[in-house]
Amino acid sequence: MTEQSRQPTDPTTPDEQPLPRTEAEWRERLTSEQFEVLRNKGTERAFTGEYAFSKEDGVYRCAGCGAELFSSETKYESGTGWPSFWQPIDSDAVELHEDKSLFMRRTEVTCARCGGHLGHVFNDGPRPTGERYCMNSVSLQLDPADEERTS
Ligand code: FE
Repeated sequence: MTEQSRQPTDPTTPDEQPLPRTEAEWRERLTSEQFEVLRNKGTERAFTGEYAFSKEDGVYRCAGCGAELFSSETKYESGTGWPSFWQPIDSDAVELHEDKSLFMRRTEVTCARCGGHLGHVFNDGPRPTGERYCMNSVSLQLDPADEERTS
């Protein structure tokens, strides 16, 4: 890497910072609630999360690493008490895994960049995809759209 190519990097942009390498480093970066969900695959209580009912325009980033995960344009009211989307911002932004825990058969959704647990995806969503990405608010961080772009 040349000196020149390093300069534009904004150290405050989380998706350009190196990822923690150990769970101890993750504990330092995350709140205890974020750590429980992102690293321990916990689930926040329904209707308690910051984004359960949010309608602001913007991009929902990973609370662990800052990667862009969902657009507000695909968020919808699912009635579940968790922020729900019918599509990720990019199919490569998330990874899907078979999850047989808790005597259920579900599909876990993780952040493709940092591996953090986000929630699950179900096939009872609205059109056009029919998918319901049921996310934990605590795994997300809303990056609000610029005023001038939305007005
Ligand atoms: Fe991430």
